[in-house]
Parts: sequence; structure tokens; C-alpha cells
Amino acid sequence: MIELVGVLGLARSGKAAAKLALASGSAVFASDTGDDEGLSVAASQIRQAGGEAETGGHSADRLAECDLLVVSPGIPPDVPVLRDESLRHVPRISELEFAFRHLSASVIAVTGTNGKTTVTAWAAYLLEEMGLDVAAAGNIGLALSEVAAWERQPEWVVVEASSYQLGGTASFDPRVGVVTNLAPDHLDRYPDLASYYGDKARLFQNASPASVWVLNGEDPAVMELPGDAPGRRLLFRAETQPDPDEEGAWVGASGELVLRVGQTELALARADQLGLLGSHNRGNALAAALAAYAATGHAETLGPGLRSFAPLPHRLEPVATVGGVLWVNDSKATNVTSARVSIEAMDRPTILLLGGRHKGESYKPLLQAFPGRVKVVLAYGEAADRITAELTTTGVDRVERVDGPLSAVVQRAARLADPGDAVLLAPACASFDMFSDYEERGTEYARLVRAMASDPSEATDG
Ligand code: ADP
Repeated sequence: MIELVGVLGLARSGKAAAKLALASGSAVFASDTGDDEGLSVAASQIRQAGGEAETGGHSADRLAECDLLVVSPGIPPDVPVLRDESLRHVPRISELEFAFRHLSASVIAVTGTNGKTTVTAWAAYLLEEMGLDVAAAGNIGLALSEVAAWERQPEWVVVEASSYQLGGTASFDPRVGVVTNLAPDHLDRYPDLASYYGDKARLFQNASPASVWVLNGEDPAVMELPGDAPGRRLLFRAETQPDPDEEGAWVGASGELVLRVGQTELALARADQLGLLGSHNRGNALAAALAAYAATGHAETLGPGLRSFAPLPHRLEPVATVGGVLWVNDSKATNVTSARVSIEAMDRPTILLLGGRHKGESYKPLLQAFPGRVKVVLAYGEAADRITAELTTTGVDRVERVDGPLSAVVQRAARLADPGDAVLLAPACASFDMFSDYEERGTEYARLVRAMASDPSEATDG
């Protein structure tokens, strides 16, 4: 009998999983509660390819007939359909697991709280620069199911794996696994920190002596995560020096990125030659370099790719300098930890734009990064009151609430900024109170800044 695969969620990954299932000979029932145009198009594409698809709700009866449920990454583990008693008997896996079952390329998996996309893109870039056939997939944009459906598979896929995706894996067994760091996040969607970390730990569930684990040696929670999972450990350190017998990579006393494996110690590039700002990005570079080394066994050719990799959009991305003021877009800083590291990366007096939808964390840890950097905080959006209440303190010239759209915040920042300052959008919040996602928020910010760059009077007139 033909297997019936149920697919929950019809956005990019779900659609790709449905098509992959059909291409591999299964029957498909794909279902999404949304019913916008993109989902309707996806549903009709699946029907055309021979599957069943519904939008605007889940038919539990039909889902209960499935042999397997593939859950898209956008669907949080606590949605009602996943708690529906009538579906309890149907085994469920994440789209990542499903794709992996059909994939022949070797996998580098990148997880952690912050820096996943940067490390994923950077590791893929390094491998490409070394002449390998490689794709970057997962949360970074291209669904792993799309890669798995390609007729000609790349040698390597670097996969950005979120905690939700890892939570639904069983046979997932990357050759190389990277954990960037661990910090509280998604507390709005997980019952507690232990369940969030627990999903991440599934990275190691099929570990073997052939596995290589690239771990943040400065993050105790990361170092604990694998427990006694077998496999080689390569540690990266952005700030501290390694233990004498440690294999890994760090920033040496003379400012070089150094890699040590076995008896070999090699300088890869100077830290000040990297195109990305901040100590956290030195950590990201080291993690990517170790992953590329683990995949290829070569470290001597990593230098050029470390030096030429450029910032990704919305991640500490310099947008423009207007009247001597540098405007930086870190819209992707959607939690307190990531906002804090971007503040730490600033080497000029900074006007910090914080706000959006509150995600449950206290903003107070940001204060530690303020001295010598942040001169003004502008708080906006739903979280504005909470931010002003928590951050009003000594050491900052002012913490000010700005009402209205992002354009009002940008205008206020332009008025307060002096030549030589930076304005940093690192909101520490979700964007959903004003935007559909962090990309829309960052794109709007960059548009407002560029408009000022082409007509500086907008900065003060508006
Ligand atoms: P993720 O994919 O995990 O969300 P990104 O690479 O997209 O990570 O970076 C998101 C934000 O997190 C960045 O804008 C930056 O503020 C911050 N960030 C990046 N790398 C790190 C890191 N290694 N440690 C802490 N924060 C980081």
C-alpha cells in the first residue's frame, strides 16, 4: 500500500516536503490553517503534482489516516492540531528529518540561539571558496527538502537547524554539528528553558566516533549540551585562550585567528581583516572555519574566504553614513542577547533603537554593554514602556520613548545624532507589532536611511 504522508504547513518548507514525498512515490495530504494567496498557490501546485491539499483549516479526520506527519518549521510544537488526541497515533517528524531521509549530500548542521544564519552562510561560503560543491539550506531560506529533491545533489549541505526542526528528528545524523551559543529565547513558545535546550540536544542523538562537533568553548551551556556523545570536539573561542591540549580555533594574542588540530597550528587571517564587526562575529568566523576544516581536512586555504565574506542583510549591516553618522541595521537582533552583542560591537557613541513586541525577557542585561558606547536609547513599539522603565538609569544621557511608526524613530535619532556617532537598530524584540517579520522591519529602516542619504534634509525636516 502506498504510504500517505501528511504535511502540516504549506509555506516554503512544507510545500517542498510535499513535493519531495510525491516525487518519492508517496501519497500526500497537505494542510494549512492559513489561506492567503501564497498558500493557495502552493496547494494548487501540490494538487497538480498529484497530491491532496487544503487551506483555511486542518481536517483532523484525514490527517488521522496518514502514516506519517511532516511538520513544517513555522509550526510551534504547542499548536492545537499537534495536541489533537485523534492524531496521537500518527508518527510525526520535522521537515528537516523528512528531507534528511531523502538526502545523499553530507550535512553540516548549525544550531544555537544566535549566529546560526551567519555561521551557516559563512561555512558554505568557505567551502565554495575552497572549490567544493555546496548548498546552504534550512532556516536560512532554501528548504532542505528542496535540496533533497534535486536530481544532482551537492557534495555538502550546510543546514541551519532551529530548535523546532531538531525537536522533530529521529535519524538526523550530520557529519559535522555546530552549536554557536545558548541563551534564553523563545520563552514565549517553550514552557521552559530545559525544553528549548532539550530540542537542541537532539543534534547529538545519533552521534558516532566519526562525528565532529564544533562547540563554543566559552559557553558552559553549549559545552554541556552533548553530554558524553561520541565524536571529535573542536572548540572555538572569541575572547579566551585555549587549554594546552585543546583542538579548535581562537583569536591569538597578536590578533590572528589561529586553528590548532593535532600537532598543527596555523594562522588563518587577521581578526581586523574580517568584513564583519564585533567579537561575536570573530566567534562566528572561527566556528565556520572549524566546520569547513572538519568537512575537508584542509585549513591552509581558509584565509581568503574568511577575509572576503560580507555582512548578511539585517545583521549588523552598515546601511549608510549620512552627515558623518553611521546607520547600522541589526533588525535580526530579536532577543536581548543578540542585541547586547551588537551593542558591544559598536566602537562609536551610539543611539540605540530598541522596541517591538516584547518576548518575555528582561532588558536589564543590555545595561552592561552601555558604558562607553550607548548615549541615547530610543524605545518604540509595544515594548516601549517596559523598556523605558527597565533601562532608565545613570550612565545614559537619555532613555526616550518615541510614539508612531519607525520613520518617527529614525527622524528622532537623526536629530539627536552628532557626526561621528552611530545609530543602531538592534531591537531586542520581535517585529510583529508593526511588521510582518524582521526582514520587513530592516528593509523599512534601510529605506528610511537611504532616503536621508539621498536627501539629507529629510533627516531634520520630517
Ligand atoms: P540566527 O540565525 O541564530 O538568528 P543570525 O546569524 O541571523 O543568527 O544573527 C542574528 C543576530 O544575532 C545578529 O543580528 C546579531 O545581533 C546576533 N548574533 C550573531 N552572531 C552572534 C553570536 N555568535 N553570539 C551572539 N549573538 C550573535
